[in-house]
Amino acid sequence: MIEPFQPAAHADFLRDESRRTGTADRIAFPRTESEVLEALAEARANRMPVTTQGARTGIAAGAVPEGGLVLNLSRMDQIHAPRGNAVRVQPGASLDAVRAALPPHLYFSPDPTETTASIGGMISCNSSGALSYLYGPTRNHVLGLRVATVSGEILDLRRGRDKADGLRFRLGALSGTLPPLPRPAVKNAAGYFTDPHMDLVDLFIGSEGTLGVVTEATLRLLPAPGAVWGLMAFLPSSSAAAGFVDALRQSSRGGPAPLAAIEYFDSRALRFLGEHAEELASQGISVPPLREGASCIYAEWHAPAAPAAEAALMAAAELLPGFGADPDASLLADNPHDIEKLKLFRHAVPELVNSAIDERRKIHPGLVKLGTDMSVPDSRLADVLALYGADLAASGLEHLVFGHIGANHLHVNILPRHPADYAAGRALYDRWAAQVIAWGGSIAAEHGIGKLKRDLFRQMAGEESIRKMRDLKKLFDPGWLLNPGTLLEGP
Ligand SMILES: Cc1cc2nc3c(=O)[nH]c(=O)nc-3n(C[C@H](O)[C@H](O)[C@H](O)COP(=O)(O)OP(=O)(O)OC[C@H]3O[C@@H](n4cnc5c(N)ncnc54)[C@H](O)[C@@H]3O)c2cc1C
Repeated sequence: MIEPFQPAAHADFLRDESRRTGTADRIAFPRTESEVLEALAEARANRMPVTTQGARTGIAAGAVPEGGLVLNLSRMDQIHAPRGNAVRVQPGASLDAVRAALPPHLYFSPDPTETTASIGGMISCNSSGALSYLYGPTRNHVLGLRVATVSGEILDLRRGRDKADGLRFRLGALSGTLPPLPRPAVKNAAGYFTDPHMDLVDLFIGSEGTLGVVTEATLRLLPAPGAVWGLMAFLPSSSAAAGFVDALRQSSRGGPAPLAAIEYFDSRALRFLGEHAEELASQGISVPPLREGASCIYAEWHAPAAPAAEAALMAAAELLPGFGADPDASLLADNPHDIEKLKLFRHAVPELVNSAIDERRKIHPGLVKLGTDMSVPDSRLADVLALYGADLAASGLEHLVFGHIGANHLHVNILPRHPADYAAGRALYDRWAAQVIAWGGSIAAEHGIGKLKRDLFRQMAGEESIRKMRDLKKLFDPGWLLNPGTLLEGP
């Protein structure tokens, strides 16, 4: 079942959406749990590192191999019929496929924008996305997991049933005491966490494939919202946008319908989209009329029925003049077709950035995008926007800012034109990370640490927590074979 790695035929499996390229010696495409165990047994026998892959849409290089065996799960893509509020799926099933398999009244809310992502990858990164503002990250929607351990066992874990006793745990032949690892109070996808009496399934969610291989997931399904309405508003500046977001968050508490998402695009992101309008039109994506120089907030409400969604949207629109924006210049989506159009348009921003970088790599092959993924507490939203704005304006670097502003979580994308730009951008990134950490934020709010952010992660977590995380990994992977180099440095 394990094949030799053929650089020509298997080149795609050396990289993910970070555009980092690795190396590998062997590759396996298991279709069943037994084949995963077989591959792990061979890796164990030969002390061969294993890099697990889902759809390789990750942007932190977690799925990029550094030698050894690539365990690609894309062929484990079975989806069972939903039962009640749950559906069992193999890890390689894509989010698109899971959605398509559900009847219209059931809803799986995690939405990391890139819908070709696999369920196993989403679980391993504890992915979020726009709708996590209301529904929380993928973790909140996992009822159970089957996990293959590197020692050759299958752990069948159920939320609510398989819990730690204090910090002690027993799972099959594995047992021990979990090190205490509290989680930050902001949106976060950086490393392990533990709680006394925790659901043990949570150890594996967000662990980036470093503790075991997810071979099946039971996902929690929600009743589909009866009405989804969206508003795209254009504000005169980033500080006006931050003020509007604060007012929106406060006014929506106890409002007629829950706010499901609050997203942000700065004026450069809007301009960038406008510049690529023709290319997007050829992909069926229409760029709405955009206001030059404006910052944009997209808000979305999910309600049982249209009147509640409409009332919530109208209440939000009434806030706009207070922040210098004209409600009549806003765009409204009140049906699935228009909501989908706005979603495609939003997804186009990171996709276009990646394509632009690919073009530049033809001249400077080593060039990669610099994309941040940092979150801060509510009280620091305006500060972080001001910090990014001032530094970027002074830098002369090509850039744009977008992201999940409702969770105080923005992606700054710097598009280097040559290696010197990259070095200048990286210096800014490091400066911002130090400030975000000092404010109590996270340097990885949803993309994970992978292989690209270990240095920032070390700064954020501190040496003591890193040591405890290494202890935790050794409980499940004493030979340090699973995804070495992802999240934590080698043994
Ligand atoms: C254009 C674009 C937009 C994006 N927007 C968002 C966003 O808004 N929010 C967000 O959260 N993410 C976003 N992402 C990142 C990415 O889509 C998610 O992280 C996604 O969950 C990765 O899934 P994957 O199947 O591609 O995983 P991979 O990239 O294949 O793997 C990711 C990690 O999970 C591990 N892994 C994969 N499968 C398993 C398994 N079965 N068992 C154990 N470990 C496993 C891998 O080893 C690796 O460490 C975006 C990506 C792109 C390209």
